[in-house]
Amino acid sequence: MSKKSYLADKIVTGGERISPDEARELWTKFEFTELATIAQAVRFRHNPSNDVTYLIDRNINYTNVCNSDCSFCAFYRHNPRDPESYVLSRETMQQKIEEAKALGATRILLQGGHNDELPYSFYLEMIEWIATTFKINLNAFSPSEIHQMTLVSGKTAGEVLKDLKAVGLHGLPGGGAEILDDEVRKRVSPKKISAGRWIEVMEEAQKLDLVTTATMVIGFGETLEHRINHLARLRDLQDRSLAGGHPGFNLYISWTHQFNENTSLGRSRHVAKYGAGAVEYLKNVAFSRIFLDNIQHHQSSWPTCGAHVAEIGLHSGCDDIGSTMMEENVVSQAGAPTASKWFMSPEELEMHIRQAGFTPVQRDSAFKVVRRPNSDEPKKETFPHRLEANG
Ligand code: SF4
Repeated sequence: MSKKSYLADKIVTGGERISPDEARELWTKFEFTELATIAQAVRFRHNPSNDVTYLIDRNINYTNVCNSDCSFCAFYRHNPRDPESYVLSRETMQQKIEEAKALGATRILLQGGHNDELPYSFYLEMIEWIATTFKINLNAFSPSEIHQMTLVSGKTAGEVLKDLKAVGLHGLPGGGAEILDDEVRKRVSPKKISAGRWIEVMEEAQKLDLVTTATMVIGFGETLEHRINHLARLRDLQDRSLAGGHPGFNLYISWTHQFNENTSLGRSRHVAKYGAGAVEYLKNVAFSRIFLDNIQHHQSSWPTCGAHVAEIGLHSGCDDIGSTMMEENVVSQAGAPTASKWFMSPEELEMHIRQAGFTPVQRDSAFKVVRRPNSDEPKKETFPHRLEANG
């Protein structure tokens, strides 16, 4: 039996885990379409039905002030006195959340920069106000924002997360992971937390049974080795959390790094080394599904590669497509197509799921079924206009 047949058989028939060495073989010896076929078999082992889920949610970026100066980011303003710096007012947040609820949103995703001027009480009061006023699931802050809160409060990450959970936090999204390898992080975001610290904070969140997601962004000029290190860190953490009786990550999402001349990476003379096209993205989607054998749901993402590529992702190992978003201020400023298409209506997501040959199901952030849409349902009013990020 050839090495290729042995590996395919081990994964598809044997349902076995692959080692980092085998992952290397898998990436180098298999074409994208071959990996997609294998990944799809793994997807149906984890999620046997033809259902593809989606979430109605809204992203809100509460501040764009950030001390991290990541070389791939065009969203942040370093100086709080910059005329373009903002911290959202309660009125603006209320308007955004009410718009989301009118569309049927079940989750608000709240993320922002690392703003040194915000006291610890700001975060607790914001979460408590949203949780009690709007009664909606609130997934907020990446591990690096939690780290920022430890710096301003003098508390540990575990204590910060406990405080946030006590006032209404449901989940910690996996933002800021980019590539979990310090060789890459030191080059593209040297002021941001290390890969080890990202995992540490996420592990604390998982010990509290918060809803957590794992992410990966490709296209920073990283090597295959870096990507395997990233996936191995996620898989190891998931093993520990599941063994400890916790739910761990309920979803894995990857997308491609976007860069234009608004970012220092985009202006670099090495720019030709960065970025990833649709085939690279999809091959990584399939590769991740095979490697991460302990995360049940994998999402196909439309914002950076487009909805039609996301349809192919549903044939490359994904059982979820994400999401309505309703607002995008980070990757769009770095050149993603979300600059002109920042919102995918539920009807559009359902259409893309059906076009790909699957059955759409609306879920909440904990993967509880909310609704099984009927294709004959009358079309709802779509999201009317774009609110500026700073209201
Ligand atoms: S990516 Fe996040 S942490 Fe980095 S500069 Fe932008 S807002 Fe700050």
